[in-house]
Amino acid sequence: QPSGSSKPPKPSFNKQDLQHYEESDFSWSKEVQAKLCNVFQLSKFRPLQRVAINLSMSGKDLFLVMPTGRGKSLCYQLPALCSNGFTLVIAPLVSLMEDQLMYLKSINVPAVTLNASSTKEDSKQVLAGMMDKNSPFKLLYVTPEKIAKSKLLMSKLEKAYNMGLLARIAVDEVHCCSQWGHDFRPDYKLLGILKRQFPKVPLVGLTATATSNVLKECQKILCVQEPITLTAPFNRPNLYYEVRFKHNEDCTHQIAELIRERYKNQSGIVYVFSQKDAEVVATDLQKRNILAQPYHASMEPSDKSLVHQRWSSKKIQVVVATVAFGMGIDKADVRFVIHHTISKSIENYYQESGRAGRDDGSADCIVFFGFADIFRISTMVVMENTGQQKLQNMVAYCQNVDRCRRAMMAIHFDEVWNDDECNQMCDVCRHGNDYITMDITKHARDVVAIVEMASSMDEKLTPLKVCDAWMGKGPAKHRKTIKVTSLSRVEVESIIIHLLLHGYFSEDFSFTPYTTHFYLKLGRKAALLKNGNHSITMKMRRKVSESAGEKSSAKVEGKRLADSDNRKSGAKKVKTLL
Ligand code: ADP
Ligand code: MG
Ligand code: ZN
Repeated sequence: QPSGSSKPPKPSFNKQDLQHYEESDFSWSKEVQAKLCNVFQLSKFRPLQRVAINLSMSGKDLFLVMPTGRGKSLCYQLPALCSNGFTLVIAPLVSLMEDQLMYLKSINVPAVTLNASSTKEDSKQVLAGMMDKNSPFKLLYVTPEKIAKSKLLMSKLEKAYNMGLLARIAVDEVHCCSQWGHDFRPDYKLLGILKRQFPKVPLVGLTATATSNVLKECQKILCVQEPITLTAPFNRPNLYYEVRFKHNEDCTHQIAELIRERYKNQSGIVYVFSQKDAEVVATDLQKRNILAQPYHASMEPSDKSLVHQRWSSKKIQVVVATVAFGMGIDKADVRFVIHHTISKSIENYYQESGRAGRDDGSADCIVFFGFADIFRISTMVVMENTGQQKLQNMVAYCQNVDRCRRAMMAIHFDEVWNDDECNQMCDVCRHGNDYITMDITKHARDVVAIVEMASSMDEKLTPLKVCDAWMGKGPAKHRKTIKVTSLSRVEVESIIIHLLLHGYFSEDFSFTPYTTHFYLKLGRKAALLKNGNHSITMKMRRKVSESAGEKSSAKVEGKRLADSDNRKSGAKKVKTLL
């Protein structure tokens, strides 16, 4: 570009150009459509899939940014089947590759992998297959380390390239290239060699989360000249997001009321935590005259598809489901997705709640936030590397009172976000400023002291026991020197959660052969409370009970909570019970 020119550079690719790629009259269109149905057994494309496939089939380099679960893989798997030779797929995790391979095997798509655990014999066959004109496989999955370290692989790729058999390069989770992204992988830095060695092979980079800065860096690292970036809209403007407190660990009656009144004659999903919950909640709803049926992984496949069918054809109103209900749901007119229990991550929540309103009509996504559920999920994800962090993010989403729910998700997905875009389509934006800022330092000291005392007695306390003890309901032996609080149950729970999220408490798991227990222990920041100047504030919802649907008592509650701000008698007299 000549410097000093006032005109902005002409974009190399504009909307009109893109429109051309939405068409289905390319030379490959028939084959693509046929394989979509016959091989992948899908009836139609999701937004951006067709454009992405047409661009890639035209030999363009492409970055595809789509939320998790929208179907990015199809955008290179389908072209792979419709091209000569094979597609090289770089994926960051062996486990991800294995999932993909299993899926591809189930639909009879020949695909292979080369990774650290491949046997010599396997590797030999794969390397030979790369130069076989009959293409014994259409997809070759490798880790970035393999590209960086295996000279043999690179030399075979070179040969395949010269024979015209290297059809395409797909870089999955492409944001791993960037140090600014959230899971930088050094070996991704070395992938630039692919475009340098094989300049004529189209590359497609896929990711769910990438800001334009991250993408620019990826482009540089991968040595892609002028990639076209397709971004699926992350925001679902027609969905209303809401969080409600789950009082007394039960919300089925509230859910029933919503379904019978607000969602009368409308279809929806109630997501629950476990298979047992699916059965129990479905039965509860049936007792309240709601046409509901459970759905979970242990059901017979025929029963599952029956439930799905009945729901799709509106013979039943609600499916009460575990996360097993997800794959293959394409009902457009889902008017509500209610979470009886929080999801284990924001990604999961986004995806599950996102099954509402696919027809672009308005729909509600309500999550019931219960104290005990946090720890049930926490023990469930205990073996996952980032399980606790992801759960904490979900809890923070629910605990949040002053940020737009969409903003919370956008930040999580690394999206650029402007709060106005919510359009009052979340509870926070709609009832904004309905919170108070509380100084909880004293409360924090009191409750931390409970856990400290228990630990000095060599005892572990579950979060529920801590609540009870703090409210003066625990067994006498715990009450020796406890300052019993006059805070309400919801406040007590919120404060404990706040302290957990902010490192004053942390999780202490204990494993038995049958189950995992969750106890609270002091966190890395607990010691700060010894310092007289240290203070902690938290924002708490004012109308705690209104958002729980009990409008009548809202005013009283609001006042009481507001008072707690400068409540002097936050803790009653020291009780000595021994
Ligand atoms: P991503 O990589 O974007 O997270 P995947 O490629 O793993 O998503 O796909 C997620 C799910 O979406 C898969 O179960 C896939 O079969 C399904 N899927 C993909 N495309 C379609 C489509 N056009 N119609 C229905 N389901 C689809
Ligand atoms: Mg993926
Ligand atoms: Zn909002």
